[in-house]
Amino acid sequence: MTATIEAPASQPIADMETDSLIGNFPEGQRLVGSQCNACGCTMIGSRVVCSSCISRDVSRVALPSTGVLYSFTRIHVGAEGIRPLGYVDLDNGVRTLADIHEGDIPLRPDMRVELDVKDDWFFAPAASDKREV
Ligand SMILES: [Zn+2]
Repeated sequence: MTATIEAPASQPIADMETDSLIGNFPEGQRLVGSQCNACGCTMIGSRVVCSSCISRDVSRVALPSTGVLYSFTRIHVGAEGIRPLGYVDLDNGVRTLADIHEGDIPLRPDMRVELDVKDDWFFAPAASDKREV
């Protein structure tokens, strides 16, 4: 007689609920984040699962609209011209890749940047940084 032992089935799950990272909050339009109620980890995007401890007990939160430019580059995109991209360390420590609008302010690492939403979302030098130039 042989016994059959079945392994428990696992299911692949998408960890993000939506592609849009911009949401409406009482403080205005902000990047959507998720905070894990089990381990406290904060992540960008509307998550279904915590990317740190895989708990499914996560809450939707608004991320800070200000941060510091960690690093940046300029991508040359055919006829579209130059597209600056950078890593922004938000004021709560979450890092995100974002379009950067530099205007007439030269970008530099560690400069303060703030979120802006027009047709799409991007970061631009913060008003406090503009006054220093
Ligand atoms: Zn967690």
